[in-house]
Amino acid sequence: MTDAGRNQERPNNTAPAEVGKRNVFDDGTLEAMRCRLPEYLAARGVELTRQGARLVARCPVHDDTSPSFAVFPNGKNCGCFPCDFQGDVFAVSQWLGRASTFPEAVADVAATLGVYLSQGHAQGQPRAPQAPPRAEREPEVPFTLSPGDRQKIHAARLAFSDAFDAGGIDPEAAKLGLPPWVLRWAAMGESGLGWWRGRLAYIYPQGLKLRNPAGHEPRFQWECGRALAPWRFEWVRPETQTVFLSEGESDTLALIAAGLEADGTAACVAAPGTNFSREWAPMFAGRKVVLCFDSDPPGMTAAAKVAGWLAGHATEILTWKGPRA
Ligand SMILES: [Zn+2]
Repeated sequence: MTDAGRNQERPNNTAPAEVGKRNVFDDGTLEAMRCRLPEYLAARGVELTRQGARLVARCPVHDDTSPSFAVFPNGKNCGCFPCDFQGDVFAVSQWLGRASTFPEAVADVAATLGVYLSQGHAQGQPRAPQAPPRAEREPEVPFTLSPGDRQKIHAARLAFSDAFDAGGIDPEAAKLGLPPWVLRWAAMGESGLGWWRGRLAYIYPQGLKLRNPAGHEPRFQWECGRALAPWRFEWVRPETQTVFLSEGESDTLALIAAGLEADGTAACVAAPGTNFSREWAPMFAGRKVVLCFDSDPPGMTAAAKVAGWLAGHATEILTWKGPRA
């Protein structure tokens, strides 16, 4: 999706950042601040409580009645699903409106944590006059759907429910070779299933993805929005031990049909397609991930790439041939 997370640390994206010949961004200061995320949050009045492997809190940004905000088990990343936010301590600073650029966020976090910034940090970063080029800044702006697109997603969700009750989804389930209850199951939640222009649609928290009729290319199209996280990722709960990650929503449905979510310890999520974003890897921290990709060359290539990104985050990475293989 975006490379913003990695780019923002590249010195050429920021103001001059040299102390002598040394790049100040290489001195470990930023990483040390990242590890102090819970401390920064506490200073911002976010009250974290432990829930399984994660620290959770009521979201400081949206009107949150249940703890939707969580620090991931690696202690360095956090997120709020209803807000579609995830990131490190510097992203949090910007998310909370305390900084509008990465350099400002570095200054804010350092000031909050009492971190001494070297000459280079202090001079170069906080009020950098040269903003990064727009193309590189754009991904940092949180993506939000227009009210019209939100309404569209809501309408698709209701239409699915109506169609299901009227038996209209049964043929669709049969086409996918799935029992109807699987579609009902997968329709629950923020990610889910919709019915749009007589077609099955996959609902993402920030997008509506349509299945095109058989034989139609492309097989899918986005009616609006996009994927900011794998499909159904909100089902990865604090107690989830294993995540089955497949390369498409229909494969995920097949995994649900195979009963993998039945005991509540596993969640089935979709990549989507082979478009897994590297930025999503930290979301899998502390969990066993089973990659259920196709065993064809593109699937195997994608699985190897994703496995590489997940290494260091997931506790264990396995590849498994799905029920269709
Ligand atoms: Zn939130």
